[in-house]
Amino acid sequence: TLSGGLLLSLMVCALIYHSLLNRHNVEREILRGLKNKEFFVEYQPVIDSKTLKVTGVEALLRWQHPIEGRIPPDVFIAYAENQGLIVELTRHMMILVAQDAHKMQHVFAEPGKLSINISPHHMEKVSFHDDVMNFIEALPENAFQVVFEITERGMIDTEGALREFNWLRRHKIEIAIDDFGTGHSALIYLEKFTLDYLKIDRGFVMSIDQKTLIAPVLDTVLKLTEELKLKTVAEGVETQQQAEYLRNHGVTYLQGYLYSKPLGIPVLLDFIRDFNEK
Ligand code: C2E
Ligand code: CA
Ligand code: CA
Ligand code: CA
Repeated sequence: TLSGGLLLSLMVCALIYHSLLNRHNVEREILRGLKNKEFFVEYQPVIDSKTLKVTGVEALLRWQHPIEGRIPPDVFIAYAENQGLIVELTRHMMILVAQDAHKMQHVFAEPGKLSINISPHHMEKVSFHDDVMNFIEALPENAFQVVFEITERGMIDTEGALREFNWLRRHKIEIAIDDFGTGHSALIYLEKFTLDYLKIDRGFVMSIDQKTLIAPVLDTVLKLTEELKLKTVAEGVETQQQAEYLRNHGVTYLQGYLYSKPLGIPVLLDFIRDFNEK
């Protein structure tokens, strides 16, 4: 009926209006949060699967909102990517990480691997090279091997990505494909790009003791990475059984709650010292 249709379109309008309002709010809130220093960084230890020592960390951004409390990065990063705020956020995050790096630099026996998440959108920006150089220059000299974790979701065109990856490698930055296996065109990257690591998504790791349908896919991926001499990082390792399986199948690094959740700097330093002493 006419009135039904009218009502429906009114409702749709109200919904769109409402979500627009929210988006602007989030955008404004992120900018306010940046000014107000509400963002901080936690670091999750990454363990060498052979030596069982912590050899690096992944930096993860946190937002402590004065009213909402902790807002998960999955939520605000997605907003920031849509609104083009991801560059601001990452720049801010790089400043914080570089400061923390000065406190972290003596805790590793060899240069620690310092992984940060880079949005594919950021790589398309003209400021990208400057942002990266500023970050590298702010780090303590020769203390870290920087790794950029990049998801294949929203990845720029193959040629653009190839060009940026080569530029990063010329600047001694290693590249990891993050959440490997969750996108669709995954295998293309293995063929075309010179990558350093594949990060195996938590979904695959979970499949190990759940015997789900995707479990055989993990074995295929691991065989392939071995042939290609690609290093691997398994994320979301939660059980001893998963760790054993991954170690026996040649996975290079392990990361997950079994070892440690992401930690703030003071606790992280104690954790790494204790863990590596054993
Ligand atoms: P990610 O890169 O896949 O990061 C791993 C996520 O898994 C982190 O969640 C980490 O806390 C969580 N995790 C680690 N070990 C375990 C485990 O054993 N079990 C379970 N259930 N979870 C585990 P977090 O910190 O909430 O980050 C979520 C996502 O937000 C990240 O996923 C990453 O895609 C994004 N993100 C975080 N910080 C940044 C950033 O600075 N820049 C960008 N572009 N993205 C970021
Ligand atoms: Ca990551
Ligand atoms: Ca990941
Ligand atoms: Ca993941």
